[in-house]
Amino acid sequence: MNCLEERIVKDGVVKEGNILKVDSFLNHQMDVQLFDEMAKEYQKRFAGKNINKILTIEASGIGIASVIALRFGVPVVFAKKSKSINLDGEMYTAEVESFTHKNINHVIVSKKFLTEDDHVLIIDDFLANGCALQGLIQIVKQAGATVEGIGIAIEKGFQPGGQIIRNLGYQLESLAIVESMDASTGQVYFREQD
Ligand code: 5GP
Repeated sequence: MNCLEERIVKDGVVKEGNILKVDSFLNHQMDVQLFDEMAKEYQKRFAGKNINKILTIEASGIGIASVIALRFGVPVVFAKKSKSINLDGEMYTAEVESFTHKNINHVIVSKKFLTEDDHVLIIDDFLANGCALQGLIQIVKQAGATVEGIGIAIEKGFQPGGQIIRNLGYQLESLAIVESMDASTGQVYFREQD
């Protein structure tokens, strides 16, 4: 078990509706020492990739992405969620359906901060159905930039997002892949990784 999986077993809470709560260390209170260990693992997994920018989505991706960006020595840009679409042409925009809130958000990134010269590592805390990632990939494509890889903290392997993104040909690295979880016992079962 890696350090993230161990922490999920220790402090994660399985909720009804296939929700894993990790707010004591990942997406509310943030254990930045853990994030730094995760960042070192992403450095190994994306070694040899020419990454000059990290892209994530507000709010819960920002903390993890910032620590990773520090390790990689590159800036981090986060996509902002917006209720209205900006039509002034200064923004890349994509639609993202929220898994947790069941609504549709527009996500926007200023054209100033993503261009065709960028080689991007996309980072997020969770991967479930893949909507958030597909929105971020669309934004990178609009910029004419290159997705060098995708780093996820927790992939819910029983939801289709991971398969969809891997089938699109991206290098997707999830540090913990949850195969199943049980709200009655609180047990979380992980997929074996090399
Ligand atoms: P997707 O777009 O892949 O369906 O869902 C990804 C987003 O939904 C993540 O950015 C995360 O905020 C949220 N999410 C999905 N599943 C969970 C979960 O089990 N627990 C928490 N805390 N957030 C989740």
